[in-house]
Amino acid sequence: MKDRIYLSSPTIHTEEREYVKYAFDTNWVSCIGENIDLFERAVCEYTGVRHAAALSSGTAALHLAVKLAGIDREDIVICSDMTFSATVNPVSYEGGIQVFVDSERESWNIDPELLERALKKYDGVHNRRAKAVIVAHLYGTPSKMDEICALCEKYGVTLIEDAAESLGALYRGRQTGTFSRYGIYSFNGNKIITTSGGGMLVSDDPTVTERARYLAFQAREPVPHYQHSEIGYNYRMSNILAGIGRGQIIYLDRHIEKKKKIYEFYKKAFADLPVRMNPHLGDSVPNYWLSCITVNRGVDVRPHEIMEALGKENIESRPIWKPMHMQPVFRDRDFIVGDVCVDEDIFARGLCLPSDIKMTEDELSMVADIVRSLF
Ligand SMILES: *Cc1c(COP(=O)(O)O)cnc(C)c1O
Repeated sequence: MKDRIYLSSPTIHTEEREYVKYAFDTNWVSCIGENIDLFERAVCEYTGVRHAAALSSGTAALHLAVKLAGIDREDIVICSDMTFSATVNPVSYEGGIQVFVDSERESWNIDPELLERALKKYDGVHNRRAKAVIVAHLYGTPSKMDEICALCEKYGVTLIEDAAESLGALYRGRQTGTFSRYGIYSFNGNKIITTSGGGMLVSDDPTVTERARYLAFQAREPVPHYQHSEIGYNYRMSNILAGIGRGQIIYLDRHIEKKKKIYEFYKKAFADLPVRMNPHLGDSVPNYWLSCITVNRGVDVRPHEIMEALGKENIESRPIWKPMHMQPVFRDRDFIVGDVCVDEDIFARGLCLPSDIKMTEDELSMVADIVRSLF
């Protein structure tokens, strides 16, 4: 059997080992240490955000963002619909209620017009007032942030930016994750850089990251006798894993370059096929985390057939994230949608192609040939 080609697997260089070794050599193997401080600083320097708190996962970062935004029982939170469930689950951890909003076709992210419709519907007069908005940048492609930020300001709701997949992506020259009071990144194994598992909450306001750190350290008050006035969590990142992150972030730009090459390879290879690549806005620069295609309407090739054909050759591909409004667990949630449901359409016709940055030209050609053979 040929070696498996993955959707997106970790790519480790040499510095990661040095920083991990440094944690062992200095015996700072737990959840404080220089690797953590320097990894946080490196993320701040890269993205331009002022403060960062390294945490155990992107989901933990989202949960703390939701908590710090004051989401409580029965609170309405307006959310991206086509995303990974981790974007929206933390709302439920706090007893809040998600309202999902369909995407627009230009970036596959939340549609600002429909977002405004949702904000008008949940305005505190007709329905409970929405308290926050959570926007994900799908597959590393920035959302329409100018419109979204303006709407959140106009309606007085807090914005949380799920940039788990989009570290390094730019919207009008500004890094995703830095547009709001609460931005989050993930360093899970399949993301653009990894710490094996981990996440970060970022903000320009130091009180946000201070509060996040406090809650992530079991809400332990700064007195010797272990006093707690709030419920805390164990959401800290290990200094060993932060060492991996320090080594990885050096290569973030190179990872993005490789991801872009993969995207462009597929785009060129499929130029004459009835498929389209996942789009992005003209004034944004994605990090190209995953390359995706949609099969044109009326063409009789199903994404699962492509997935099976690739699978036979030991090549991993994946359906588009199943929209949240279609998930059994969220069946009673409201969904704001126009005349045609964009998310259902993209889900029905779309597929994530292998986008592993270790792929060779030959492997990319092999994938392209298999896809081509079905048309
Ligand atoms: C991966 C991911 C998360 C969760 O990050 P973890 O570090 O795996 O907890 C959240 N949102 C999106 C959109 C993701 O892709």
